Amino acid sequence: MNAAWKDAALGAALSGIGLCAALAAGPARAQDYRFPTSGEDYGHFYPTAYLDQGGTTDWNCGGITYSGHGGSDFGGGSWTGMDEGRDIVAAAAGTVIDAHDGEDDRCTTGDCPGGGGYGNYVKIRHADGKATIYAHLKTWSVAVSVGQEVGCGQGLGQMGSSGYSTGPHVHFEVRTASESRTDPFDGPCSSPPTYWVDQGVYDGLPGLVCEDVGPCAVLARLRCGESVSLSNDAGGATSSHLSYGGCSEYVYSGPEVAVEFATELGEAVTLRLSGLGADLDLFLLASEACDGTGCHAASTEPYGTDEAIAFTAAAGQRYVVAVDGWEGATSAFSLSAECAGGWPGEGDPGDDDTAPDDDAAPDDDAAPDDDAAPDDDAAPDDDAATDDDATSDDDAAPEGEDPPDRVEDFGGCSGCATGSASPGPLPTLAPLVPLLRRRGRPRVVAGVGSG
Ligand SMILES: [Zn+2]
Repeated sequence: MNAAWKDAALGAALSGIGLCAALAAGPARAQDYRFPTSGEDYGHFYPTAYLDQGGTTDWNCGGITYSGHGGSDFGGGSWTGMDEGRDIVAAAAGTVIDAHDGEDDRCTTGDCPGGGGYGNYVKIRHADGKATIYAHLKTWSVAVSVGQEVGCGQGLGQMGSSGYSTGPHVHFEVRTASESRTDPFDGPCSSPPTYWVDQGVYDGLPGLVCEDVGPCAVLARLRCGESVSLSNDAGGATSSHLSYGGCSEYVYSGPEVAVEFATELGEAVTLRLSGLGADLDLFLLASEACDGTGCHAASTEPYGTDEAIAFTAAAGQRYVVAVDGWEGATSAFSLSAECAGGWPGEGDPGDDDTAPDDDAAPDDDAAPDDDAAPDDDAAPDDDAATDDDATSDDDAAPEGEDPPDRVEDFGGCSGCATGSASPGPLPTLAPLVPLLRRRGRPRVVAGVGSG
């Protein structure tokens, strides 16, 4: 199983591929790597040959290498594994600067031509100027093209045995900005630093966590009653956030987008993610730091199942709602906010909703008024008189006995048919019902930016 597949002669033969101009801008900060496979396939991989530090010695002064090897080889379960499919993903965000496909992928001799010996491969330039190469990929599995921006963990292709390879594995190679091969591992026979976020142990695997490189991108604003239509690989999407703290057990590889949500009311809110063609998940966050430190809630149904988060929003608080692809999944989606207070704007002539809803007294609703469901009155809900509409009223009190629930709109209840309500207790009860209430519009109407 753990055959030591490797890429014979690659170390010596291939110093020149992909010599695109280095990035003009030279960002200062190093950009560390995750192990370049998916969480799903991670358990299948094992190191077969590290970079040769000289004298057939690896970074740990051991012998897991061969003479002249210029990268790190990882097997993924031999031919069976290759046929099952083993994802190869970007170790960090960057730009594809070279890619090649179409070479035969069942090389066993170590000297099959094509791709300069790398067979089918992808080369990515990262923000710090270094580049990573993913070589010997399966035929026609290369999923990215030159010039494309990729996120950390984004799928690049599948493990294969193309080029100078003796069996299925990935040759992962790191180049400096000046195209010198460099060992991503730090150890007694390799100079620091490590280029892995989590190097792991000798003869084991580096971890899957990407280096966070910035905030998640807030691309739109969402308010009660609105929905936004986006795709998580839209322009401006990022892919740097792999973990959402205690909110989700899964590792994400993006791309991700985020939307700002806020409501002026303290109220129950349901965020719904729908229209999915792939496995996107939904997160309610305290800020666009998206680093897992401020995750309020998550919805992580499998596959393309709709997601929903129900929570009680704090009045005026700004939330960041992130949509992230599981294992690089991308899809268009619709994200909506349904608010217990209803929707502002239309309907309800005379309902100005600016005063506290002091329904606590006559309207025996529990603290939040139970108008979470649309108020299905046929007529505008003017409530001045007893609410005895033909259609059912949402109030907890029996229909027909329902006292006015908008006394504030009319300065009192002197004209109430039932005469049962007294404004007397209102001043003391009102503070117990801090919610404002919006009523009226019975349907969610899509629209961005109207709020
Ligand atoms: Zn190799």
